[in-house]
Amino acid sequence: MDETPTRDSALSRRSALVRLGGLAAAALGAGAGARELLGDEADAAESGPAAVSAGLVSCVLAPEQTEGPYYLDDHKVRRDITEGKRGVPLTLRLTVLDVSTCKPIKGAAVDVWHCDAGGVYSGTTVQGTSAKRFLRGIQRTNAKGLALFRTIYPGWYPGRTVHVHVMVHVSGNVVHTGQLYFPDALTDRVYRTRPYSRRPRRTTRNAADSIYRNGGRRSTLTLRKSGSGYVGSITMGVQRR
Ligand code: FE
Repeated sequence: MDETPTRDSALSRRSALVRLGGLAAAALGAGAGARELLGDEADAAESGPAAVSAGLVSCVLAPEQTEGPYYLDDHKVRRDITEGKRGVPLTLRLTVLDVSTCKPIKGAAVDVWHCDAGGVYSGTTVQGTSAKRFLRGIQRTNAKGLALFRTIYPGWYPGRTVHVHVMVHVSGNVVHTGQLYFPDALTDRVYRTRPYSRRPRRTTRNAADSIYRNGGRRSTLTLRKSGSGYVGSITMGVQRR
């Protein structure tokens, strides 16, 4: 979909919504068309302090959430973290903005990790995967602040809703630790297919998840179908340290 706003239409309602960022636009009930643009919003980046003060841009600080027990600090730098794990293909488009300027941050290290379709994390002794590193990786953001990953739609484990862990480092400092979520209706659809369908009756949906309840709606990916899978996009506003 190519509806990148032009300079002439910068004040039109649609482009204003695009510039608000995914979370705010979703909160405003923006249509699907506008939402699909959000993954590319950094492409259009007419941003910066002037745009902020003019009210054209409003960055949203990504909610901080616990890293949980499964973080490892030895993730590989790689785009494809699948390692042959079966599941519905998922591309993650994660954009990092400086929340004080709304400008993309280039060279941020974005670290993601999540469980497989069976709810198992790599790198854990209790799950017998301590030597494995599937579904974990790091990418550097490009000039548009964008980090891309190829993975699979995560599974679930008891007590948690579906999520991807994320950590963002800038100049060696952790500037954001969070979790990314999925619309329950989409998860229901995905989980009707194999291999997810082997584990029916997931225990916890978004609204019942104690971590999601603390800002999770603002950390929910915008998803669109792509081939046999999905593309999940979100913009994370971070504060440099
Ligand atoms: Fe987790």
